[in-house]
Amino acid sequence: MPSAGVLMPAIELEMKRAESQEEDRLSILKNAGILDSEREPCYDLITRMAAEHFHADAAGLGFADESRVWIKSSWGQHLRELPKEHSIFEMVLAKNGPIVIPDISCHMPADGPALMLKIAEAAFVASAPVRCRTGVILGVLTVFARQPRQGLSIDDLRVLEDMAQMAANQLELGCLRKSHATTSKPFRTRRKRGKICEWPTPADLRQALDRREFVLFYQPEVDLSNRRIVGLEALIRWQHPERGLIPPAKFIPQAETSGMILPIGDWGLAEACRQIQIWNAADRANKSLRVSVNLSARQFARQGLADHVESLLLASGASSCQLGLEMTESSLTPNMGTAKQVLTCLRSLGVALLMDDFGTGYSSLNQLHAFPFDVLKIDRSFVSRMTEGRQALQIVRTIIELARVLRMEVVAEGIETAEQYRLLRDMGCRIGQGYLFARPMTAQATTELLRRPGRILAEKSGEVLNQPAVLV
Ligand code: C2E
Ligand code: MG
Ligand code: MG
Repeated sequence: MPSAGVLMPAIELEMKRAESQEEDRLSILKNAGILDSEREPCYDLITRMAAEHFHADAAGLGFADESRVWIKSSWGQHLRELPKEHSIFEMVLAKNGPIVIPDISCHMPADGPALMLKIAEAAFVASAPVRCRTGVILGVLTVFARQPRQGLSIDDLRVLEDMAQMAANQLELGCLRKSHATTSKPFRTRRKRGKICEWPTPADLRQALDRREFVLFYQPEVDLSNRRIVGLEALIRWQHPERGLIPPAKFIPQAETSGMILPIGDWGLAEACRQIQIWNAADRANKSLRVSVNLSARQFARQGLADHVESLLLASGASSCQLGLEMTESSLTPNMGTAKQVLTCLRSLGVALLMDDFGTGYSSLNQLHAFPFDVLKIDRSFVSRMTEGRQALQIVRTIIELARVLRMEVVAEGIETAEQYRLLRDMGCRIGQGYLFARPMTAQATTELLRRPGRILAEKSGEVLNQPAVLV
């Protein structure tokens, strides 16, 4: 029997080999520009052929990055991108070859790809790896059937592998075409370059994600009756090695346009869930603190969001009532149907839904009825104008009343002065957020703040709150 001393280098060697394969895999996919993007119709012929050959109910082709399997084509049924963890891709990767599960009810592995099988309503599944020339697995071609199916022959499996190989060839062809396009058409490239050079480019954002340069800051939401911290809003920042701390307004719009908001948003959600668990561990009695994460339109345009949130909550152990999701009405309008479905699924998970910047959109009342929101956040622009005249004050009063009638919680954003605080509190607004209480701060500084007795924020000198405000 080999000694531990002989075994260790063998294990280390194997780990190093796996790490470098993973790096190769990711760099091939990044060069192919196949991640973070929409479906590619060029693969539809392959998924269709696979579905027809196997008389399958559905077939899908997906490529996986570090955290997700991006479905590039599906046939028979709409399959959507999903977390990589516990995916069919991971099973194929672990086996380093094709997998067949003739009857899921009998042969389902304990940590199997539950989510994908649920979506495909599958009882039978067969999946073959899509390998690049060096043999590294880039993705999977999978067929699903609703009925169990025994006796898949070796030849059948070979056919599936051949089809997966066609997908690999197609990917290489795509790469070649892309590199040809950029070398043989200088004018187009230059024009494109002029556009892409606007900072930050999608490549800058991808690099920042890979180098873990994004951070979440947290800003307290306080109970206006006693200044107790009842929630936190997670606000992203980019800790750039040369440019310093960059606010979201400088990179979120570009991330939205390029689609990079999807992996960045996924990171933000995962990071917030991880941090909730850290705070839970530090204070076991507490489960009442809600951390809210901002989402943008692109994140709602895909069905997988609720599944993704569910898997993050499961993985982190955070409770769903500790997570809030903030969205503006404009982020819901591009695809109202999908947004409504996604929000309903999120709500059924127990996650709180907050309508951000309320009052700034065009059809606020419409949206309130159409979507299952729990919280209204009054936009800062109304709060800041509140003390300037009757109209803004009246709008705030109406929003608070509206929230009360609809049994929604209301949070006032951007409270900067003691007078705004007093007015809001006296009008019955229960929760507030703003520089008067605390600015957004690092997780570490937030942890310090949460350690205060009763989580109560101290009054700043000069604030006089006990006298009732004069309401206009
Ligand atoms: P938001 O969700 O409405 O966040 C509130 C913004 O108001 C934050 O700006 C916060 O720092 C600022 N703020 C809070 N209290 C006060 C105050 O008393 N006075 C003033 N002047 N400002 C105050 P920030 O952090 O720069 O974020 C700007 C926007 O960027 C956010 O607006 C949100 O729409 C977006 N954003 C932030 N983090 C994320 C994220 O992780 N994902 C997405 N998609 N968007 C994000
Ligand atoms: Mg917000
Ligand atoms: Mg806001």
